[in-house]
Amino acid sequence: MKNIIKIVFVGLMVFGFSIWQIPEAKSWGFWAHKRVNRLAVFTLPPEMIGFYKAHLEFITEHAVDPDKRRYSAEGEDKNHYIDIDVYGEYPFDMVPHKWEDAVAKFSEDTLREYGIAPWNLEWVLGKLTRAFEDRNLKRILRHSVDIGHYIGDIHVPLHTTLNYNGQLTGQKGIHGFWESRCPELFADDNYDYFVGKAEYLKSPRKKIWETIIESASHVPTVLAKEKELTERFTEDKKYAFDERGELLMRTYSTEFSKTYEKELDGMIEDRMRKAILTLGSFWYTAWVNAGKPDLTNLGDYVLTEEEEAAQKELNEKANSGKIKGREHSK
Ligand SMILES: [Zn+2]
Repeated sequence: MKNIIKIVFVGLMVFGFSIWQIPEAKSWGFWAHKRVNRLAVFTLPPEMIGFYKAHLEFITEHAVDPDKRRYSAEGEDKNHYIDIDVYGEYPFDMVPHKWEDAVAKFSEDTLREYGIAPWNLEWVLGKLTRAFEDRNLKRILRHSVDIGHYIGDIHVPLHTTLNYNGQLTGQKGIHGFWESRCPELFADDNYDYFVGKAEYLKSPRKKIWETIIESASHVPTVLAKEKELTERFTEDKKYAFDERGELLMRTYSTEFSKTYEKELDGMIEDRMRKAILTLGSFWYTAWVNAGKPDLTNLGDYVLTEEEEAAQKELNEKANSGKIKGREHSK
């Protein structure tokens, strides 16, 4: 039976269908987003860590809600990336950091067309700060989770380029390879997550843009190394078939992934570590800017019936639906 499936898949590939149309198993994929959110909790100061630890499961489990929303909310996918290279060359000084200035220069439609990750992050930070000011448990958690996701995304080089899935250079699939396959294979055993303590950010905006420019600086390496390796590996050594329930899915082989990870010389680990620390620093900064509210006795997180229905719908649509917008905007 499995051989038949394999033959069908090979057939599909021969006829030019992309195997990647079959849903990828996980997406900083689901796995890495959860890990970033969870580990960021341990960078927090004593006044905050108790609260976040008490809600550790929520912070972890909901780390991928923003990705799920891409199936139900129009425009949500735009929050996850910026194709900064459409505006010019590295280091992209031509892109104004302030939303109003950027709109004045390029128009809002253009900005939205190519992704609004940096500006959206500032807006979510504002919402989180107000949630702290109001000591509103649900909003604190919701916005903490969301900001974690979006910060994770801007640390991924392929979230900063028009060639986000290698589709312009014959490297389709590289998005999931870099952000999902590699961390899933190596992160638990090989990465060092001791990242230090959250820091107060005088200018979150500056941090956001530094991160994006740094991510963008890695794009040429991310692509070039994969290309180089592809020349060294035959097709059957590059890919492997992975059993996922009833399906056999084509994926990058462990050997190919291992070599790639090694050639990148710690890049993925470094981006993940920075994402963790930056997230802790954003949570901390929002809390300080809100006047360091007391986070004890904020009550329990109990969903209303409506909220439960909404979460259920979100999950269902994400499992069965089609993304509104770009496929690889995760
Ligand atoms: Zn995302």
